[in-house]
This record gives sequence, C-alpha cells and structure tokens, in this order.
Amino acid sequence: MANLHDLSFWQAKAASLSIESRAFINGVYVDAVDGGTFEKTSPIDQRLLAKVASCDQADANLAVKAARDSFNAGVWSERPPAVRKKILLKFAGLIREHGDELALLDTLDMGKPIGDSRTVDINGTARAIEWTAEAIDKIYDEVAPTASNELGLVTRQAVGVVAAIVPWNFPMIMAAWKFAPALAMGNSFILKPSEKSPLSAIRMAQLALEAGIPKGVFNVLPGFGHTVGKALARHMDVDTLVFTGSTGVAKQLMIYSGESNMKRVWTEAGGKSANVVFADAPNLDEAAEAAAGAICFNAGEVCTAGSRLLVEESIAEAFTAKVRQAMKKWTPGHPLDPTTKMGAIVDSSQMQRVLSYVDKGKLEGATLTQGGNLQAPVENGCFIEPAIFENVSNDMAIASEEIFGPVLSVIPFKTEEQALSIANDSIYGLAAGVWTSNLSRAHRFSSKLQAGSVWVNQYDGGDMTAPFGGFKQSGNGRDKSLHAFDKYSEIKATWIKL
Ligand code: NAD
Repeated sequence: MANLHDLSFWQAKAASLSIESRAFINGVYVDAVDGGTFEKTSPIDQRLLAKVASCDQADANLAVKAARDSFNAGVWSERPPAVRKKILLKFAGLIREHGDELALLDTLDMGKPIGDSRTVDINGTARAIEWTAEAIDKIYDEVAPTASNELGLVTRQAVGVVAAIVPWNFPMIMAAWKFAPALAMGNSFILKPSEKSPLSAIRMAQLALEAGIPKGVFNVLPGFGHTVGKALARHMDVDTLVFTGSTGVAKQLMIYSGESNMKRVWTEAGGKSANVVFADAPNLDEAAEAAAGAICFNAGEVCTAGSRLLVEESIAEAFTAKVRQAMKKWTPGHPLDPTTKMGAIVDSSQMQRVLSYVDKGKLEGATLTQGGNLQAPVENGCFIEPAIFENVSNDMAIASEEIFGPVLSVIPFKTEEQALSIANDSIYGLAAGVWTSNLSRAHRFSSKLQAGSVWVNQYDGGDMTAPFGGFKQSGNGRDKSLHAFDKYSEIKATWIKL
C-alpha cells in the first residue's frame, strides 16, 4: 500500500485535495468584490489548481477596515500577552497538524519538493510562530533613569494595522516571519501572498481563526502586486508595511509610502551572496557539497543563495571539479516524489528568465561547464538542470544580477584583500560564507563582509534566535529574533511628574 514515502501516495492526495481559493476578510472566506479571479496553474505539469480571488482596491479597503475595527475594539490588541501567546501556540500546533495538506499546497503551487515542504517549510513556519509566541510574555519595557520627582516610562505599543507583501519561494515561512511578531505584539494583520503561491496562506487563515485569533485580526488578500499589493501600499489607513521580495519592488513600496501616509516600510529584498573558499578550508569536500547546496536548494530560488562562489586560485580547478560532482546530485525530479532534492522552477516566466541568464553568461564569455538545460522529469513542467559557469568576472551580469535560479558563477581570487573586495562589490548585502581554518582570518574577514548574515565553515545556518536581514539594497530592519519586534511596535516615552 502506498505511504507518504511514495510518489503515488502524494499524487493520489493531490488528486483528491479540495482547495480554498477565496480571500479571507473579517473571519470569512469571500470572493473578490468585483468577482475577479486568476487561474493558478502548477509548474509541475501546468495543471489548473484553482481560480483564485483576484483582489484589488475595494477588497483592500474591506480588509483594512476589518483590521482597523478589530484593532480598535481591543479583541486582540488588548488581550494580555500570555493569552496571545497561548492562541498563537495553538495556531502553530494546527499548522503542524495540517502540515501534510499545507505542504502539498505549496509543492503544487510553486514546485518545491514535497520532502522540503513537509520539513523545512512546515517546521520553519510553526517554529517561527512558537518561538515568537514564547517570547512575547517575557519582554519588559523600560524605566528611564530620572530624577526622583519624575517617572519616565519607555514602552512599546502595537502600531495598529500591518500589511505584509510576501514572495513565493517559501510562501509560509516568509509570511510567518512577519505575522508571528506582528500578531504577538497585538497588531491586526493583512497578508498579501504572491500571486505565484497564494494557496497555503489562504488555508492558514482558517487555521488562525480556529486557533482563536479573532475575526478581522488576520486577513488574507490574494492577487497581484500592481493591484491589491499597490492598494495596500498606498492605503491611508495601513500603519506599517512589511515586505519580502525583489529590490525593485521594495524601492517602489517606499515611493508608495511617501506618496500616501508615510507608513513605515520594512523590506527584505534581493541578494547576490558570495561564498568564499580559501585553500585552508578545513574540509574541501564538505565545502564543495555546501557550495552545491547553496545554489541548488529550493532550485536556487533563495534570497541567500550562494550564487557567487569565490575560490582561492591555488585550489580553484580541483575544488570546482568537486562542486560540479556535488551539483550532479541535484538533478531535478518530480516534486511529489519524497526522494526528490530539487523540484520545479516556480513558473515558465521565471524559467525563461533563468535560461536567459544562461545565454547571457555564454555571450559574456564565461564558460558553462555543466547544466543549464531544460529537463523533463514531468511532461510540461518547469525544470532546469543546475548550471555552473567558470571563468566568471564579477562585473558580468550573471555575477552581479540576482537570477533567482540554480545558476552558479565561479570567480577565482588570489589574495584575501581581493576576495573581500569582490565579495563586497555588489549592490546587495544579504549574506556571505567564508571557509578557512585560520581563526584570525575567519574573524577579520567576517567583520569586513558587508552582509546581514555571515556563515563560517558552513552555509545557511541559523534559527529563530538570530536576526535576519540585509545591508545595502538587500533591505532594512530584521526578521526573526527579538529584533523583529522593532518593526511591529512604536516606542513611547511617558513622563510623569510625581
Ligand atoms: P517580487 O518583488 O516580484 O514580488 C514580491 C511580492 O511583491 C509579491 O507578492 C508581488 O505580488 C508583490 N508586488 C509586486 N509588485 C508590486 C507593487 N508594485 N506593489 C505592491 N506589491 C507588489 O519578488 P518575488 O519574485 O515574489 O520573489 C523573489 C524575490 O524575493 C527575490 O528578489 C528574492 O531575493 C527576494 N526574497 C528576499 C528575501 C529576504 O529575506 N531578503 C527572502 C525571500 C525572497
């Protein structure tokens, strides 16, 4: 009999899945006000998954009103932190309980392997909520060091209505990094998932209600960026806008804010991260496996993807050969097969974009030594064999622009100074890796890297305890850890004459 380790189990589950595709406003599922929908197909085989509500200004108005009314009514914002914690923990529990269904929705929607959706995405989402919920009744405010005839209170309070616009690469985790601290702090929340992956967010809304989050406090508006995304970003009654996505859209959101009510805008944007391997790396085999994983995991659709591999010249040839070998293990497979490591690219337009960079790399004079071809583990699917370019210089488009796909650029360097200068020569500053056995170099180099996250002798480490975000055009503010609460609170100083 088929079980959850079999492709046939997941294919049968997918065939019988019932998919909710309406917006969630004020505690109920509703069609878009104008009845508009868009067709959501799967990148696995182009099957139609659902006709999803295509929200716009009128829907944004309704959701913002529901959020504002619930905030003002105090049904959530005025509950004790310990009560909000308990409800959020229940929400996380429901996400775990419905993990297989949510994981399947994401896999069908955006093509990632079911094995990753069930582990990385479900655990990452539940853990984000649990960690944040656990923190909220342990944070204290401050008393200022005043003269004895005055009392100075420094308190944090919820900002009010928070709207979040998120991408498709980790649909639930990117949302949870926003809604967990926003809700924990007492705000009311509107989530605009990507039009490329709206289904799990829509389903989570029902679970939030079931957990006890009152109606109006958690709303979901599926639709496009230039319609409902823009409507939220320009809305006069949204207090804070949080975003994860591309740098271009992040800049646009800052303009919308300036043109409307100067709402706070916090952005997690693009990346072109350098993974720097010195000849004295403690274990070159491990480093090569990690370098391959850094560009192939989630089909390279990761903001922190190690897309620039900087290798010390003396080991460049031998090390790159190891990376090529390691990348062969990431051949795309059926996303519903639990043994698949690399799934589909999110849709055909993203696939074309990735292929266009493969062409560009060749035209620029870099050497494509492996991959870059279309693959067809499933008929009509969007699959690409991971590509590795050698003889790359940092000014080429493949090394300076974010591709957001499995395309690796290998750039040799001679000295530590040169490696640092290449690593930092980017408009982005999201993350970086450095591999060396030299402790002094590890510290010296890490401290000079212009990146929000630095990994030494590993790639992509971290958990909810550490903040995540970027320098430069990779954004502002931080998700995760206690630092995340800064986005969802205003700080008030109250002076009391005694
Ligand atoms: P995107 O910027 O195209 O879209 C992100 C979201 O913005 C989507 O929901 C989209 O509908 C919305 N949007 C688009 N135009 C808009 C507009 N004019 N007004 C309002 N909303 C608008 O990004 P994407 O393709 O979904 O995701 C890939 C990008 O996300 C990459 O650049 C990647 O680096 C970035 N990303 C960053 C992080 C991080 O934490 N720094 C994490 C994941 C992804």
